[in-house]
Amino acid sequence: MAPFDTELMTINASDSELRSHVEEAELPPLLPALAYATGDLTLLREDLRPDPTLAAMPQGGLSPDQQATIRELAVRALGRFRDAGSVPAPPPSEDQLLMMMEHTVGARDMSAYLPLLEEELAYRGEDRRAPTWRKDALAPERELTVAVIGAGMSGLLVGHRLRQAGVPFVILEKDGDVGGTWLENSYPGCRVDNPNHNYSYSFAQRHDWPYHFSTQDVLLEYFKKCADDFGIRPFIRFNTEVLSAAWDDAAQRWELRVRHGDLEETLSAHVVISAVGQLNRPRYPTEIEGFGSFSGPAFHSARWRHDVDLEGRRIAVIGTGASAIQFIPEIARLAGKVTVFQRTPPWLAPTPDYHAEVSRGQQWLYRHVPAYSEFNRFSIFWKMGDGVLANVRVDPSYPPRHNAVSAANDLVRTMLEGYLRSQLADRPDLLEQVIPSYPPGAKRMLRDNGIWPATLKRDNVRLVTDEIAAITPAGVRTTDGTEHQADILIYGTGFQASSFLAPMRICGRAGIDLHDHWSGEPRAYLGITIPGFPNFFCLYGPNTNIVINGSIIYFSECGVRYIMGCLELLLRTGKTAMEVRKDIHDEFNERVDAENRRMAWGWSDVRSWYKNASGRVSQNWPFTLLEYWQQTLRPDPGHYELS
Ligand code: NAP
Repeated sequence: MAPFDTELMTINASDSELRSHVEEAELPPLLPALAYATGDLTLLREDLRPDPTLAAMPQGGLSPDQQATIRELAVRALGRFRDAGSVPAPPPSEDQLLMMMEHTVGARDMSAYLPLLEEELAYRGEDRRAPTWRKDALAPERELTVAVIGAGMSGLLVGHRLRQAGVPFVILEKDGDVGGTWLENSYPGCRVDNPNHNYSYSFAQRHDWPYHFSTQDVLLEYFKKCADDFGIRPFIRFNTEVLSAAWDDAAQRWELRVRHGDLEETLSAHVVISAVGQLNRPRYPTEIEGFGSFSGPAFHSARWRHDVDLEGRRIAVIGTGASAIQFIPEIARLAGKVTVFQRTPPWLAPTPDYHAEVSRGQQWLYRHVPAYSEFNRFSIFWKMGDGVLANVRVDPSYPPRHNAVSAANDLVRTMLEGYLRSQLADRPDLLEQVIPSYPPGAKRMLRDNGIWPATLKRDNVRLVTDEIAAITPAGVRTTDGTEHQADILIYGTGFQASSFLAPMRICGRAGIDLHDHWSGEPRAYLGITIPGFPNFFCLYGPNTNIVINGSIIYFSECGVRYIMGCLELLLRTGKTAMEVRKDIHDEFNERVDAENRRMAWGWSDVRSWYKNASGRVSQNWPFTLLEYWQQTLRPDPGHYELS
């Protein structure tokens, strides 16, 4: 089922209209899409391949001459396609598809990616990741119930899959609606920082995203529509918070304690799937002296107080992470004065179209050129993921430096520093404050279209880099003794990311408490399953986050397929419980830890939410996206103890 209208339209445009649409095209995926549409593989000219090392550059780093030639070829191919009635050629063979994929990103020897591409293309609403089995065919008499915690992006996805497989389930959601992070984060300026043509379900792609990086309201509507179209709202219990879950070994079930308003009750399920995410509990800087003493309104970015009027007020903001640099430019337009407290400056990835609407020409191409939108999705997948992973990997032979981990990383650093210098050439004082001293990729890189430097330059904005000594009733005092007075205090201080599954109490076999078991070191096998916790699965669990801005929806789709494979295994074998072997789990985590230490975010000692208190990288997946896909295709029964 394709919940969004991805039907292609017949081309009636004149040659000059075609030319003007192509003028606005994202070029690297255009010739491969036209080769797909027309069957004309001569379009995939060797001299028009993007250079894979420039994948992340505008237009894939294609030279102006290459761009002009591609446009010319594209206009002619589109004209021929139109004149032949807009009838797509027969689907390409696998070899041909591989040629198209490799041409899109310029890389070679990508055959391992081919099956992944075929799934991601999800051409015309196909759903190649749907379960291929149904419970009523596999084990009709068997009682198997599933409780899912959370109705955000991952919870909706797993609900959809359970419904497709005919497995009874309930989704328990603490909020009053679906959407998770896109429901809770309503701060001004909130938008996705991964392009929507990639940040969307593979089987529910839209060709008509209004922006490249859509705003929170658009994302929330997307997930609400998915919930409706998937038909899973009736399975969600809203305003129902899970307090605890305990495994009953005798009954081979989980007992869940839930709260609904003032009422508490116990539910039971054979399987529990946590879809609570990593970023849903705000982190307040309680470590700062005087926290809580501020006399005016004080709130967190994820708990925005829309009732507080910001017009003309003095606002203090703590933090310059992904949330803060989205809302500060917005509030600076209203406020009398904004004082920004920065502890560590972010690297900024220049993104000219960050706030731009998708142009008319580009929209037209998505609606009229078969597979253009899908090849564009793959191009984004590559250039924000596996295609640039080498740039953040530590080169052990590279001379140790605090701000680069390899020659390639240093090249990126030089480019990013050049961007900051160009934006703040007139403000050397600010420049000194904003150039990071750590390698690109050690913290999350933030997107910028010029708005952040422009905001810092405003007369009513002051960037403070002196350390915070205390929060006072009147504002924020820094260690130099200055009291920065404010009427309103906003925390852009992030989330309790390392406290996975908190504040829920999860007790597994023999009553062992998951948080005691972890003792501050959350780990799981594939981010999904934990020894001692039978039939308990996580989505967006430990070590499934990505730094260089791939789509977390991709991880959820892989994880959900794996979990569905586990349910299939239980049903096929007639076993009641499955628990990952400790040796498999431990060996996996050793590999993850070793590889994370070889990545910029694990090598650098800069502070980030990717690490837990001991400094272990508990959030990130250090390998390729392809490897996560390969490892989660299906569970290996040999990795589990089945009871
Ligand atoms: P964050 O990246 O963790 O940023 C928190 C900020 O608060 C940092 O600048 C941090 O400084 C500062 N801070 C924390 N405690 C402090 C203290 N005691 N004193 C001074 N400064 C303090 O949190 P976030 O901005 O909410 O973003 C979290 C994640 O959410 C992002 O990385 C991203 O994955 C996701 N997100 C995504 C989007 C999007 O897609 N559009 C938007 C927002 C968030 P340090 O850097 O020194 O720690």
